[in-house]
Amino acid sequence: MISKIPKPIIEIIQKLEAAGFEAYVVGGCVRDLMMDVEPKDWDVTTNAKPEEVMKIFPDSFYENQFGTVGIKSEVGVVEVTTYRIESKYSDKRRPDKVEFAKTLKEDLSRRDFTINALALRITNKSPALSSASSADSPEPGSYKIIDLYGGQKDLKNKIIRAVGNPNERFDEDALRMMRAVRFAVTLGGDVKIKRTDGPRKLSKKMPFEIEEETKKAIVKNAKNLKFIALERIQDELNKIMISDFAAEGIELLRELKLLQYIIPELEKGYGVGQNRHHIYTIYEHSILALKNCPSSKLEVRLATLFHDIAKPETKRGEGAFSTFYNHDHVGARVVEKILKRLKYSTDVIKKVRLLVDNHMFYYNVEEVGASSVRRLVRKVGLENIDDLIDVRVGDRLGSGVPKAVPYKLRHFKYMVDKISSDPLSVKMLKIDGNDLMKGLKLKAGPMLGAILDVLLSEVIENPEENKKEILLKRAKELCKIDLSNLREMAKEKIEEKKEEDDEEIKAKYYVK
Ligand code: ATP
Ligand code: MG
Repeated sequence: MISKIPKPIIEIIQKLEAAGFEAYVVGGCVRDLMMDVEPKDWDVTTNAKPEEVMKIFPDSFYENQFGTVGIKSEVGVVEVTTYRIESKYSDKRRPDKVEFAKTLKEDLSRRDFTINALALRITNKSPALSSASSADSPEPGSYKIIDLYGGQKDLKNKIIRAVGNPNERFDEDALRMMRAVRFAVTLGGDVKIKRTDGPRKLSKKMPFEIEEETKKAIVKNAKNLKFIALERIQDELNKIMISDFAAEGIELLRELKLLQYIIPELEKGYGVGQNRHHIYTIYEHSILALKNCPSSKLEVRLATLFHDIAKPETKRGEGAFSTFYNHDHVGARVVEKILKRLKYSTDVIKKVRLLVDNHMFYYNVEEVGASSVRRLVRKVGLENIDDLIDVRVGDRLGSGVPKAVPYKLRHFKYMVDKISSDPLSVKMLKIDGNDLMKGLKLKAGPMLGAILDVLLSEVIENPEENKKEILLKRAKELCKIDLSNLREMAKEKIEEKKEEDDEEIKAKYYVK
């Protein structure tokens, strides 16, 4: 195991020890090492004060007010943190001041979970420093695990347990409650997601279980999540969302009463029944759609979880014949609000919104022609089609009622492929501004642009008209129409089609 600790880390520790200080590898990286998982980052803890650490490592810098020094190394920046205790918390989110501690024990006692409170001491005093050049002789090395809180046993039994009194731990930093859920679903490394055609149910067993007293303390302290910076919350949510147990993670957040402080909108669908086309409630369906989402992209996962977010508020009627008209478009607005609140970037918001807005796209092999596929591609962008299909696959598999057969979506992909070489932008017209200027004796300007737009809107309908002579002839007619009318025409054509789509969707999918 020790051979997995990169040489620069061993050197840092040995240099600190050579200077008369204590130094340990600590926290998540020790946990990962013991689980045979590649640590993401390396943390070292020491009784040397930050100034003392910086004296030993000239190539280091003070990182933050928490007594952490960053040391640049071949394996990235290694964080060396002076033993500390976090004594006073008045706002439940960060210590008012950092106090350095004298002993490793004190430092370990302020860590969140037993499995994260392990330290590793390198007991091999010899090589690294003296024989740094003889890289061919890997150090046999020995190490000792310092385990004051039963972390190894919990690791073996796959248990997440707060260090010491869980109520105090969560009262000090409420984010730890979300970290507990995150670790429960993510520990043990990434599990590859398999694409399947059969629906997946929620797993009964999580990679790790949260210990009972720790769970109780989470429920009790859940409301304190209100005090936590939304960026930190988003960060934990993302880690849950991209894991293979994302659905179980969201459900665990709900069970532990945390979800209402993160995404209350999602809880509104809890226990709300749907119509004869669904066997699950809105909430259950959202979770199962996520479970069955074949994509591991954050945006696609978010869109899948939120695709029906506006169903509770758009529900009309009760029982088998209730309807949810417009829940897709209303949902797009709701999801934007949620993601803005959670401080997501505009890029993420735009993408998730687009996917939610369009998740109801209608497709039936015999009924939907190339032109409607073309319009959809134009609306959502070719680069988003696969993601939109993935949202739909999750939606379908998570409905519990076999509806759209996979064949239909495969056929849809085929159509997208087929039409993606068809004209979708003015550039793809077999005529350009220069041809028009010459043929119609027009000057460059808005009139030219408007004519091209109308031509495009017509070619979308009838690709066979994308021929130079036909387009020029049509342009001559359009030329007689004034600018504002032309603009209306281009717009109207698109709007008209959008309405038609909506009608189709409502007729066939009134159920949704
Ligand atoms: P990851 O796999 O995300 O890196 P990690 O356990 O290494 O998980 P880090 O955020 O890198 O988590 O923190 C390193 C260590 O610092 C943790 O293992 C834990 O000992 C301690 N720690 C981090 N955040 C907290 C917190 N909010 N409260 C208490 N201890 C914490
Ligand atoms: Mg870490």
